Amino acid sequence: MIDIYHKANINIKNKFISVIGLGLSGSAAAKLAHFAGAKVYVSDPGTSLDLNMRADEMLQMGIGVETGIHSDRIYEADLWVISPGVPKDSDIIAKAQKNNIPIVSEIEFASWFTESPIIAVTGSNGKTTTVKMLIKMCQSENILGSLAGNVGIPFSSSVLQEMKCPEPKTVYILEISSFQMEFIENFRPKIAVYTNISPEHLNRHGTMDEYIAMKMRMVENQTKTDFIVFNIDDPIIAMALKDHPAIMVPFSIIRSDTTFRLQTNSIYGTNGSPLISVKDINLPGQHNLSNILAASTAAHLMGIPDQHIAEIMGSFPGVEHRLEYVSSIDGVQYINDSKATNLDAVMVALESFDQSLILILGGQNKGADFRLLLPHIEESHVRLIISYGESGGEIVTAIGDAVRSVQVTDLKSAVTSAQSLAIPGDVVLLSPGCASFDQFENFEARGIQFKNWIYNLDKTND
Ligand code: ADP
Repeated sequence: MIDIYHKANINIKNKFISVIGLGLSGSAAAKLAHFAGAKVYVSDPGTSLDLNMRADEMLQMGIGVETGIHSDRIYEADLWVISPGVPKDSDIIAKAQKNNIPIVSEIEFASWFTESPIIAVTGSNGKTTTVKMLIKMCQSENILGSLAGNVGIPFSSSVLQEMKCPEPKTVYILEISSFQMEFIENFRPKIAVYTNISPEHLNRHGTMDEYIAMKMRMVENQTKTDFIVFNIDDPIIAMALKDHPAIMVPFSIIRSDTTFRLQTNSIYGTNGSPLISVKDINLPGQHNLSNILAASTAAHLMGIPDQHIAEIMGSFPGVEHRLEYVSSIDGVQYINDSKATNLDAVMVALESFDQSLILILGGQNKGADFRLLLPHIEESHVRLIISYGESGGEIVTAIGDAVRSVQVTDLKSAVTSAQSLAIPGDVVLLSPGCASFDQFENFEARGIQFKNWIYNLDKTND
């Protein structure tokens, strides 16, 4: 059996490794294991075209693979590497555990093959925005940030690239979801970053306590020489980390005793002088200021000078589909927040605008009670709601009495209605609060379509 507790001595040559799941991370883990000399077998019960193309690639590399089934062949293994999509309470995992097969997550597995420092970012919201900003901050003479994890770049791919072409300045910046922490053994980031914790993802993690415990697994191997950058404004995080031995480095949009501080509409640097005025930051909303402070604090710990951090604060354009500015037509601004697939995200979006809002809500309801939006709508500047899609009727029933509302069938009609009902000074905000799957493949496709329709409106105006 493989000794998975001694990273420095890891040797998987000629070991039998089953990789469960042939998604992006599964195929990357299989390639890494193959490169390190293991006898790899990949298994995925799916049958999609993408999957079969990846399976062909595996076969061409000499890696064993099966799709459409998990056969008993997967249990002939010294180790399992599992993809984040495989639930920890599935039958196959129970059987592997019964057979005493060690199981690790793809993130854990990849971490065995690198000595480069890791900055790992997690939280319920704000992970992608934080890592995308941090990666820009972490490019200097001394360090070369490498972005991976839950951002569509498997950690295993990045580590394999480093093995093939070593770069001593590498610092990994990983976006970590709770699912990737389910099978961690030795994973130990030099810097862990916690953005916030809210009750999302409870379906898979059961209770809030379990969800918090899962998030805390990211720092379970950290010691007093490691760092935790955390949102001290979030009482759940502050409480969960209170007895941790690592060096605690809080960030806050309220307090003045943190590394960077936000005061009188400016962010102040580590030497106490003003770095940048909030009006010169392109990202709207208080929540984004919190993300900026998270990234800046981690970058500071990596030795990045304040001046470079401030330049990125001022030039960072934001992330696609998150309160993304699309265009201004006839004095009306259009904003794409297609990533807002839950009501928490809609709430922070509403708090981010002082202008009068036409809010487009709709899609496939993930079980939310839209009445929860009522107080936020009353406190914000929403003057019209356009609802569409599967949940269109439910939205009107829940909040139609509080504010003028219009129901249409699809997003394209919502855009047309918004344009005809908007007056100069309005912001048309797509912050749907629902999944996209009733009318689109995913939230990215929904956001791209929305933007294209807006650009077409713009053209018809020329
Ligand atoms: P994640 O990667 O954690 O999903 P993103 O950076 O992609 O986070 O942001 C997704 C959505 O989460 C945003 O559109 C916004 O609505 C919300 N959000 C982002 N940052 C925060 C934050 N710090 N606090 C609360 N909500 C946030």
